[in-house]
Amino acid sequence: MNLDRYHQILADLAPHHARLVAVSKTKPAADIQTLYDLGQRIFGENKVQEMTSKYEALPHDIQWHLIGHLQSNKVKYIAPYVSMIHSVDSLVLLSEIDRQAAKHDRIIPCLLQIHISGEETKFGLTEEEVFALLNDPSFAQLKNIRIAGLMGMASNTDNEQKINTEFASLKKLFDKLREKYFAEQPSFCELSMGMSSDYHIALRHGATLVRVGSDIFGSR
Ligand SMILES: *Cc1c(COP(=O)(O)O)cnc(C)c1O
Repeated sequence: MNLDRYHQILADLAPHHARLVAVSKTKPAADIQTLYDLGQRIFGENKVQEMTSKYEALPHDIQWHLIGHLQSNKVKYIAPYVSMIHSVDSLVLLSEIDRQAAKHDRIIPCLLQIHISGEETKFGLTEEEVFALLNDPSFAQLKNIRIAGLMGMASNTDNEQKINTEFASLKKLFDKLREKYFAEQPSFCELSMGMSSDYHIALRHGATLVRVGSDIFGSR
């Protein structure tokens, strides 16, 4: 673990009023406890089972953010405790989150994951698909989820200009959606973008949550 980097990242985020999601996937509970003892409360995981065992083993005021792809049939395991789901990429998934959240009398904050990189990946909604989701009459029926903002991942590249363009496009879409669909909802306020290699670029484009793992916990 690199605690100097941890403190440096917090210092980098402070002037932007952005918050750190410490991405602890594959790392032991002891590492999470170390950061917890320094005051870190938001942790990100990408697997349901791993996150649930860590939730059970660690202090219950940790805010667990699910950042990886989520299958509908696994929502039930995290619905009782998850603090935010960053990776919502379909109305089917969102409806299942709503259904499971209702069972626990909760409202689960969700981010819509947007496909912003040119890379081939199955994950993330296109701009067209986001509009279709938000315009779907069944979306308006969902009472136990709250769309808290957007999430995106830039291309894995050294080309800073390309990353700039991708984060800028996510910010632009965020502003557009806020104006069109969420003007009356100040809770649509989170832009989750930036990882170890590119969080400093994401901050320049208005990231409010950055998801940093290897920089703090070491390579996986
Ligand atoms: C693993 C992961 C991160 C963190 O990546 P690092 O390069 O280790 O900082 C961020 N976001 C998502 C979605 C991830 O899966």
